[in-house]
Amino acid sequence: MSLTSSPPTDAAIEAGRRALLQGWSTGAEPGPIFVKASGALLWDLDGNEYVDCTSQAWSNNIGASHERVVAAVSRQAADLTHLRSNYESIPLLQLAAKLIEVAPEGLNRVSFCLHGSLAVESAMKLALKNAAAPGPFITLRDGFHGRSLAAMGLSWPHGESRFVPLYPPVIRVPQPYVYRSTGETEDEVVARCINELRDTIERGASGHPVAFIMEPVQGNGTQLDFPRSYYKAVRQLCDEKEILLIWDEVQTGFGPTGHMWASDLYEVVPDILVFGKGIGGGLPLAGILVRDGLKGFDAGDDAHTFGQLPLSLAASLAAFEVLEDENLLENCREMGEYATSRLLEMQTRHRLIGDVRGPGLLIGIELVLDRETKTPACKEVIEVYRRGMELGVIFGETRYRGLGNVVKIKPPLCVTQEQMDKALDAFDRILTELETDHV
Ligand code: PMP
Repeated sequence: MSLTSSPPTDAAIEAGRRALLQGWSTGAEPGPIFVKASGALLWDLDGNEYVDCTSQAWSNNIGASHERVVAAVSRQAADLTHLRSNYESIPLLQLAAKLIEVAPEGLNRVSFCLHGSLAVESAMKLALKNAAAPGPFITLRDGFHGRSLAAMGLSWPHGESRFVPLYPPVIRVPQPYVYRSTGETEDEVVARCINELRDTIERGASGHPVAFIMEPVQGNGTQLDFPRSYYKAVRQLCDEKEILLIWDEVQTGFGPTGHMWASDLYEVVPDILVFGKGIGGGLPLAGILVRDGLKGFDAGDDAHTFGQLPLSLAASLAAFEVLEDENLLENCREMGEYATSRLLEMQTRHRLIGDVRGPGLLIGIELVLDRETKTPACKEVIEVYRRGMELGVIFGETRYRGLGNVVKIKPPLCVTQEQMDKALDAFDRILTELETDHV
């Protein structure tokens, strides 16, 4: 198979590497140069094949380079690639209507941009416009909401503290992290976290908080879902205290929980839902869904040059068709259950596995050196990533500040059982090797 028509010379590759101002590292660079992707598979310049358990930053939900997306984008490119954001295009109107059709009940207006971080900022702006007075935002510990300055400020502190003067006012409250709440029942953990949230709203902020923003399943920080009762209790408390509830569904939206939205799975509807990543079918697209009754934006409040990019909107329309026609939510649920049951079996054999979490294909495996002390096995997670690459599997990993000891398996929703087995067999083998090294 010819992977590229004109492979670059080594000198051209080195020149490119020297020129790049890097902002992110997996810790294993320079890694392979990827040249092709299809479904849940990726190929590098040397022709090596990988099962992609990261969906490339959790964005290729329907699989990479789907032919229907490629066709829709090239049709759209031939007609109209870009339009200033104060004009309307056909895919803009079609996608707006489609999103309202599939949105959680009551969310009936939508606004678009190209990045999750900017969509989070749209949600923040709208919350501020709807508040009686400006006030702080409340977020969860270990939360992640992006790397624009405001979104970085909402996220659990990481990276350059030099940016702090530009952060918005934020108060962080604990999340119900049941696995790490030794000595408490699940109900007690939820009650403690809800009490803390209540206390923060009532007494812990200067000014009434504008909104509580949370990921329904924490991605970057911990790969952590919460007890079901927490979601409902949060909704009730926000209603009681009259603060807006914003769900950042940039990762959980568009299928990976096995449902269109985490909101559908947990049966809780936020006031503003932020979407991004997979919704663009592999192209950049993000935005917010907003409940009826909230004041919208005024002219100039939230418009970006490429905010309504016809190419991304056309890609997203095709991605919705693929998700529905190929029953990808069903495949996600089946593959999620399959992988989770295999991982739970591995947990009985591998002492490194502390906790196995879902839902759907948002799988996190927390590695610990000791099941009693739960000491995070951080180096081992990096080894899983490194040895996984050698075995043709790209694992995800949390290395975002704090613990950094969670392996993530979050492949595209079209992953086959054969591909999942390749990833799980590699994980099993790597853990055996690591445990043998430890003896
Ligand atoms: N919110 C969440 C929950 C995310 O996971 C991310 C990206 N990892 C973002 C926001 C930011 O999205 P983007 O990188 O597209 O700005």
